[in-house]
Amino acid sequence: RNPIVAIDGPAGAGKSTVTRAFAKKLGLLYLDTGAMYRAVTWLIIKKGIDLKDDEGLSQSLKELNLEFKVSQLEEQNVFLNGKNITKEIRSPEITEKVPLVASKSIVRKILTIQQKALGKDGGLVAEGRDIGTTVFPDAELKVFLTASPKERAKRRSIDLKNKGFTVPNLLDLEKQIKERDQIDSSRKIAPLLKSEEAIELVTDGMSIEEVIDSLVKMFRL
Ligand code: C5P
Repeated sequence: RNPIVAIDGPAGAGKSTVTRAFAKKLGLLYLDTGAMYRAVTWLIIKKGIDLKDDEGLSQSLKELNLEFKVSQLEEQNVFLNGKNITKEIRSPEITEKVPLVASKSIVRKILTIQQKALGKDGGLVAEGRDIGTTVFPDAELKVFLTASPKERAKRRSIDLKNKGFTVPNLLDLEKQIKERDQIDSSRKIAPLLKSEEAIELVTDGMSIEEVIDSLVKMFRL
């Protein structure tokens, strides 16, 4: 049995932390699709590509060689054309720009093909915005992981602090998170939405362990 589990949800819902731990617990591979959109955004900024320049964009995407490596520390390292960009892709600058890049159909097309290829043999837990709806519509378990904007702002604040970035105040963070959700849910292609079959889990007030336990229970049902 080589299951595929799809975990979708809005920004700052704690998807990465719990999905990684859940995958480890079940001995499945872990795929962070957000990291792929972040890596493309990093490349676009680095090369100074105008998002309206479809030609330049598709040329750059042709040169895109993304690799994911799980290190001993168990953090998923992201390499773009051989360069380790794991830390850079988490910067507030990238975070702000990703939704605009992720709205481009050419970008989604190329990354979706890569994601499907990574999951072709199953045995994978993938997290993102469109996993259950578009990337793996046949996933055996689909979860929509969410929390209130306030709670998500709090979690993002702790996360930024741990990663050594400057932390905006909670109200500003909440505003940024809502803006990102707004762009992600209103784009034309593969928008962020809860698919009909997905089980919604609202994690306000739950600890990381409780969320992981709930996922394991859903999986074993
Ligand atoms: O999950 P993470 O916060 O790293 O995702 C960053 C951004 O990448 C999202 O706000 C969204 O714009 C984009 N994304 C997407 N589809 C996915 C995963 C991420 O559009 N499957």
